[in-house]
Amino acid sequence: MKVNVAPLLKQPIGAHTDYELTESPIDPRGENAGLIEAGVSSIDADIIATHTNPGAYVEGDARASVSLQCSRCLKPIEAPVKAHFAEQYYATIDVVSGDPRDQAPRDAKTIGSDFWVDLTPLLREELILATPLAPLCRPDCKGLCEICGRDLNTDPHEHDTGSDERWSKLQELKKFRPDR
Ligand SMILES: [Zn+2]
Ligand SMILES: [Zn+2]
Repeated sequence: MKVNVAPLLKQPIGAHTDYELTESPIDPRGENAGLIEAGVSSIDADIIATHTNPGAYVEGDARASVSLQCSRCLKPIEAPVKAHFAEQYYATIDVVSGDPRDQAPRDAKTIGSDFWVDLTPLLREELILATPLAPLCRPDCKGLCEICGRDLNTDPHEHDTGSDERWSKLQELKKFRPDR
């Protein structure tokens, strides 16, 4: 989402502007396409930009739906992800006079000479941080059978591991899987 903060920066310090972002599903060719890289399929966000001494302080809450894979059974799932975000954007040019402003701190997010701020990288970053690392399709997902790979939710079964040498060989191999 891109917002033009020029009108806000012309108002007194402390003035604020509200924005609302709702997109479902996110258009892969639209300005929020960067969110799709984070698995976000839809988003709904309330954003407030406040005119501060250095520029614009942007704060808000985002509710997104993120496409993930169950960490146990590998089934595709859509998980709700919520994130709060806040960031100071530093003006580099005075909006009224057009003169350059004091150097922003290193690594600070800046407002370019066109006064448009792209909020997509901020939203993407915060939603990635809020996304669960080991999502589950349901809290009691039984996962895949470690021996034959079948889904234990839809196909509950056990193997008689003691009597068949082939299974014990596979069990040894399984111990070397790096993701376990
Ligand atoms: Zn699952
Ligand atoms: Zn099995």
